[in-house]
Amino acid sequence: MRALVRHNSCYLAHEGISTNVIQDGGGNPELLNFESFQQIASLPEYRPNNPLTQENYRQILGWYHFAEKQCCCVQRASGTLCGTLHNHGWVAKLKDGTVTILGADCANDKFGADSTVFKDISLAMNARREKEREEKIRRLVEQSTHYEIQLRGAIARLRQARLQLDEFLNSIGHEFRRRIVNMAKTGNASVVIEGVKVRYEEKSGKRVPETSVIKHTLGALEGLSAIDYQQFLRLTVEMEHIKDAFVEARAATQLNRAIKAKLGFHIERCV
Ligand SMILES: [Zn+2]
Repeated sequence: MRALVRHNSCYLAHEGISTNVIQDGGGNPELLNFESFQQIASLPEYRPNNPLTQENYRQILGWYHFAEKQCCCVQRASGTLCGTLHNHGWVAKLKDGTVTILGADCANDKFGADSTVFKDISLAMNARREKEREEKIRRLVEQSTHYEIQLRGAIARLRQARLQLDEFLNSIGHEFRRRIVNMAKTGNASVVIEGVKVRYEEKSGKRVPETSVIKHTLGALEGLSAIDYQQFLRLTVEMEHIKDAFVEARAATQLNRAIKAKLGFHIERCV
């Protein structure tokens, strides 16, 4: 009875996972994202407390990230298991075909950066990041019309605000404008009142002036960076780039590597 139940759960879990296994462009099996410990434990090849060594390691199957911690099965030089509890780590296949788990940093800590396990994990981490990035871009492109409209609106509002700002700057006089633009460039937003006190002293029959400056800070101007024209330009150009990247991505019948890279570059710069 017990064996039957186990068989069924293994079958179901295995079937569920195997549907996710698709080949990437290089013909390598795609890494799996295990969402519960049950998914790992239900794999027919999984063995609890299954020691992982440099010698018996074959390949990384995927990664896990759970709320509950799991014991790391890396075998220490002394022969005992690492046993450290980890929320996240890797699922590995051994040369005998069985499956085990190891904590996130343990391969590097126990086997070193030159070990095959660690090198495979580095590759897996890159693959995972790339997968997450692709997923993010795919979702963004799906909503590209929405984002394009939002960006068009934001760029129009920004240009309108700039026009109003220019009108204001033109109305305040050349000297004040020069000062305020300079403040925006230097990032010093403090508004300071300067009072100059002049005292005259008689020295050898001459009136000699002695001046002292009294400063009082009134406060700081908010949003001063908006006055800097270069910042306004940079912002609008960047928004235009993102908008164009969305349009290009949507127009492409297939999202090729160059388009994805371009969109990813712009999006990541703004996040
Ligand atoms: Zn460990």
